Amino acid sequence: MIIRKDRVRELKCDVLVVGGGAAGMTAALAAQRQTSSVTVVSNSPLGASSATTMAGGGITLPSETFTPEEFISEVMRCGADINDRKLVKAVAETSPTIFKRLCEEIHLPIWKRDKYTFGIIPDEKARMAGYHLASGMAREIKAHGIRCVEDFTLVDLILDDDTCVGCLGISDDGTLYLVRSKSVVLATGGYAGIYLRNDNPPGITGNGLILAFEAGAQLRDMEFIQFVPGFDDPQLPETIFQPPPFPAGLKVVNSKGDDIFRKHFQEEIDLNEAILRYRDRLTLALKRECDSGESVMVEFSGVNEVDWNRYYCLKLLSYYQNYERGKPIGISPIAHFTMGGVVIDERARTSVKGLFAAGEVAGGLHGANRMSGVALTECLVFGEIAGKSASEYSKECDINLDKICEGVYEDKIADFWALEGLTNGKNSPLALYKRLQRYVWTYLSPIREATSLKQFKTKLEQFKKDVAEGFRVEDVRDLKRVIRLRKMLALIDIVRLACELREESRGGHYRSDYPAQNDEDWRKSIFLEKKEGKLSHYSRRTDL
Ligand SMILES: Cc1cc2nc3c(=O)[nH]c(=O)nc-3n(C[C@H](O)[C@H](O)[C@H](O)COP(=O)(O)OP(=O)(O)OC[C@H]3O[C@@H](n4cnc5c(N)ncnc54)[C@H](O)[C@@H]3O)c2cc1C
Repeated sequence: MIIRKDRVRELKCDVLVVGGGAAGMTAALAAQRQTSSVTVVSNSPLGASSATTMAGGGITLPSETFTPEEFISEVMRCGADINDRKLVKAVAETSPTIFKRLCEEIHLPIWKRDKYTFGIIPDEKARMAGYHLASGMAREIKAHGIRCVEDFTLVDLILDDDTCVGCLGISDDGTLYLVRSKSVVLATGGYAGIYLRNDNPPGITGNGLILAFEAGAQLRDMEFIQFVPGFDDPQLPETIFQPPPFPAGLKVVNSKGDDIFRKHFQEEIDLNEAILRYRDRLTLALKRECDSGESVMVEFSGVNEVDWNRYYCLKLLSYYQNYERGKPIGISPIAHFTMGGVVIDERARTSVKGLFAAGEVAGGLHGANRMSGVALTECLVFGEIAGKSASEYSKECDINLDKICEGVYEDKIADFWALEGLTNGKNSPLALYKRLQRYVWTYLSPIREATSLKQFKTKLEQFKKDVAEGFRVEDVRDLKRVIRLRKMLALIDIVRLACELREESRGGHYRSDYPAQNDEDWRKSIFLEKKEGKLSHYSRRTDL
């Protein structure tokens, strides 16, 4: 037995935050200002193995060069007008103050990158801008004495009478944790990790999101995935070519030497503009080139000597062991960010009482596509709001954690032992995990269409039969993979369905059988929920 029954550990708190990225850490700090009983759990050390740590450090928000009204209209334009306007407005109104305070509190070094965006100056040692943000926040959390469990994998949320009252998790040493909490803030990030080619840290596969769904929360916009140009070169790591700004003279060309922007965009545009404002169109251009057998490269011959030392994106290349300066680099789309997520209101409340969500796990702010730099802003704003709302809620609610019927917790633990029963089979969890990622890469690629979405459904049915035969589990890591895989499978069903339902192209969702944006029928979001144990859906507008 991997998890020992005599090792169940109980924790109790008013506010439990799940996730140690920017959203989770901001929520914990905000909650701690109002209540001392805050716990953060995360499956990796705070800040590490999070998208936040890997971020290029662009933070887009209203400033003296970008008014709140311009911010709202630009975020809605990028989102193809199906964003939740109330969330966009909340970010426009509060982000400047929240960002200013954060910069002061953690001494975040920043510069103004362009009209829209601030940049975090990268940490010299870690060479990543996001690391500066994540490590600064982690230091604050520790300085405030907030309790942290940093090897905690979320297994399930616990409900009593449709109210969230805690969660179950396992740690790397095989301890089963039972956390009793008056409120839970989910900040487990997005689901780009379901794709074989992605630039997220391992484990960002939407587990928190599907647990919220199973607990009764609604999801929205699950079909919208943002892809960006990633290295496609055997000598280099499979990661995003980042961060902007890129110098003049840098070109993106196909193997015939055609300039990709001239070929695929009607207007005069360069890589900076495309990355900042037109990621969906850039993805389609790259995907079409790749599908027609062309390779696409970033070409550096026009970059002058001064710029090689001045631009961080070029400096970063010199850190890769096998990179020869100036050599063209192959690029192709890579899954980067997920616009879909748990439905929240302006107070970060989900449709489940006691359950709040913030950061990439939540949906609605970005609509069909995200403007560059607005993800970190979202984490700061909704992290702050979620932390505050959760602590206020835990003060007002009349939950006595000691009096919650024992059966509620016991049942969840029993479900967990039943899962362990599935771990005597033959399947390698890692092999199945990779197979599923490959399927997602093939069938939910940036270019989708009805026939292949149907074929994918059949593939998934067969896959589920294989999963039902059980796994060969040798250690806690394998067990965590089994937990992740089962949740990932449930999530992929939902993403596939949303892709099939949306019979048009918009933002980060392109259908080759419905290539046009159809505002008359589809200027709305698809909402998904569990009703009487079944997946159901409806659509409505939230941009008004
Ligand atoms: C390479 C890269 C560059 C980017 N650059 C930018 C940029 O410049 N500007 C910008 O605005 N956005 C950028 N983004 C997007 C942005 O970084 C993310 O959207 C944002 O950091 C998400 O923060 P988060 O706190 O919601 O989630 P994350 O930072 O991903 O944190 C999630 C946390 O949850 C934990 N977790 C996940 N699942 C579980 C589980 N089952 N159990 C327990 N813990 C769990 C993880 O360990 C982690 O601590 C970038 C993303 C990437 C990948």
